[in-house]
Amino acid sequence: MTAQTFNATVLGSPRIGPRRELKRATESYWAGRIGQDELKKVAANLRRDTWAQLAAAGLDSVPVNTFSYYDQMLDTAVLLGALPERVGGVADELDRYFAAARGNADVAPLEMTKWFDTNYHYIVPEIGPNTTFTLDPTKVLAELKEAQEQGISARPVIIGPITFLLLSKAVDGAPEPIYRLDELTDVYAELLSTLAAAGAQWVQIDEPVLVTDVSENAPALADQVYARLGGLSDRPAIFVATYFGDPGAALPALARTPVEAIGVDLVYGPNTKIASVPELASKTLVAGVVDGRNIWRTDLQAALAKLASLLGSVGSLAVSTSCSTLHVPYTLDGETGLDEDLRSWLAFGAEKVSEVTALARALTEGRDAVADEIAASNAAVESRKADPRLRNADVRGRIETITASGAQRGSAEARRAAQLERLHLPPLPTTTIGSFPQTVDIRKARAALVAGEIDEAEYTRRMKAEIADVITLQEQLGLDVLVHGEPERNDMVQYFAEQLEGFFATANGWVQSYGSRCVRPPVLFGDVLRPHPMTVEWATYAQSLTDKPVKGMLTGPVTILAWSFVRDDQPLADTANQVALAIRDETVDLEKAGIAVIQVDEPALRELLPLRKADQQAYLNWAVGAFRLSTSGVTDATQIHTHLCYSEFGEVIGAIADLDADVTSLEAARSHMEVLDDLNAIGFSNGVGPGVYDIHSPRVPSTGEMAESLREALDAVPAQRLWVNPDCGLKTRKTDEVTASLANLVAAAKQARASV
Ligand code: ZN
Repeated sequence: MTAQTFNATVLGSPRIGPRRELKRATESYWAGRIGQDELKKVAANLRRDTWAQLAAAGLDSVPVNTFSYYDQMLDTAVLLGALPERVGGVADELDRYFAAARGNADVAPLEMTKWFDTNYHYIVPEIGPNTTFTLDPTKVLAELKEAQEQGISARPVIIGPITFLLLSKAVDGAPEPIYRLDELTDVYAELLSTLAAAGAQWVQIDEPVLVTDVSENAPALADQVYARLGGLSDRPAIFVATYFGDPGAALPALARTPVEAIGVDLVYGPNTKIASVPELASKTLVAGVVDGRNIWRTDLQAALAKLASLLGSVGSLAVSTSCSTLHVPYTLDGETGLDEDLRSWLAFGAEKVSEVTALARALTEGRDAVADEIAASNAAVESRKADPRLRNADVRGRIETITASGAQRGSAEARRAAQLERLHLPPLPTTTIGSFPQTVDIRKARAALVAGEIDEAEYTRRMKAEIADVITLQEQLGLDVLVHGEPERNDMVQYFAEQLEGFFATANGWVQSYGSRCVRPPVLFGDVLRPHPMTVEWATYAQSLTDKPVKGMLTGPVTILAWSFVRDDQPLADTANQVALAIRDETVDLEKAGIAVIQVDEPALRELLPLRKADQQAYLNWAVGAFRLSTSGVTDATQIHTHLCYSEFGEVIGAIADLDADVTSLEAARSHMEVLDDLNAIGFSNGVGPGVYDIHSPRVPSTGEMAESLREALDAVPAQRLWVNPDCGLKTRKTDEVTASLANLVAAAKQARASV
């Protein structure tokens, strides 16, 4: 355990490949186009290149075992021998792993959910009464060996037992998995001795759950596990990494255990108390001062001041990113299209590594050793502050004026009356959530436009043809409120970001969302301005084809923020209001163009919810405020819908009511209408459309089962308030599935109407 301490590291790094090589290879493997050998070769090359670059950049401890074919939580389930029995029938190891992640013809996959408040999704391990834990260290040992053979100072990274259990799901009647912590800690003890035998000097054990309120007992749990693991004699030096926020009372608890190093996220937990924890005087503090999950360049001078302030309180100080750089793109190298100022404000994965090593050198050799780096960082900070695109007085003034006047609509009753008169809808009106299937033709047209093979006019013509088809289909099906189908949207955030000032798109800024799925979030860098209407042409074209109301379709401010990289130089609330103003202007233009129903989607409302309960209300206040700013510019006769797509409403249920949309559609097909009882419990009295058709599956639900769902819903909600709709957009489904399902949905609504 006399491991040498380290000075510069990152907690993990991107793994999809700088050109998304891993995505291509895994998808080719799944499609049967390449074999396992080829896939494994791609993976090994990516690992080798990643480690070589991290070492060459000057990190003196390099994380390994952060590679993953799909997800690190799933890797941990394999490590602990805790895959569910149902995938056990798949003979091949890698295929079994992929079956757990994605399912196959015989087995359902494990669930997936968001990793803390990031946009990354992890696989949720299942812990049942029969789940056993048995160590299978094959992967971590193989990666360690590869790295050692490459001459890398390798530090295996594993997810810790507290985080693993608290993020797992109890199944088959088992109690919450955390009761198995002692038993699981035994397996970790075995793992540590295995790693020591394999020559690991250090091990990094990730416990991000310690920065949340998921368990009130976090400090006690930290003590229970790390006093035990730290007390082992046969082990590598232990570095427990917390990240995404302030560990609070868990930090002193950890510091009192015999672990050698503790990681803290000083970007998302800037007030983490270090000086008041005397036990840190004998530990290595791994200070996450370089933002691992946003793309802004670090103010080196400020970071250095922060580090200097810690020196007297800790045994030794290592510099790190705040979390794994899994959440940011690989490198700025390919971003040649950005103007030079903008580019100078950014740091992606590779640039963040250089920031870490510059800061570490400043600590060990003195700041003169990195005078050039500091000067460049200062220049970037100054250039960003001074850039006129960051402050638009007009936008700021308008927001102040509107919010000062309350951004109110008429009363719910006044709106209901005005809308009833305008819309003439039957009871239990039917509608969809917005998108229709993104067909091969749509994708081809978009690719052809990007490649310059067709011009804008031809692209528009093809999109309009698609819209016409979708309108015809909906009329034939007998839906009541139609949509244009969103064929022109590559993505519900990117589509708006591309048209708004204050955003820019990257050329190659891909980040892993889940498995092989990658996204390229836009960067929101300046004040947001809407130079022209964004959706009016499509909506009015669709409306011109039918006498039924067509719903205008917009993305809400919170969701636009959640799925972008957002400026860090002002409160998120201010940025949200600017986006809200742009959306508000769009609703007003849609209304002027004769659109009577407008939906503002907020599927990410839950996602940005702060990890600590104490911070949640303030967030919900500004999130609701931004939504209301975006929807209060229209008259009472224009009906505002919103859509939220997750089934766990718990903490945000009050906020959903406060959004005060006239109609709220939500995911409920899988949670059996429980959400209606929850809404009733808080006195929700507006229109509501609990999804009766689960679009996440290719299965076509029968009229009977949707009618049954509606009967259940009618027990909770009167017919005048109930809407009938699927639980999310249809873009990922096939046209024939959608046609059959919607036909049944309309039939179910008619049956239910007959009974009210
Ligand atoms: Zn949805």
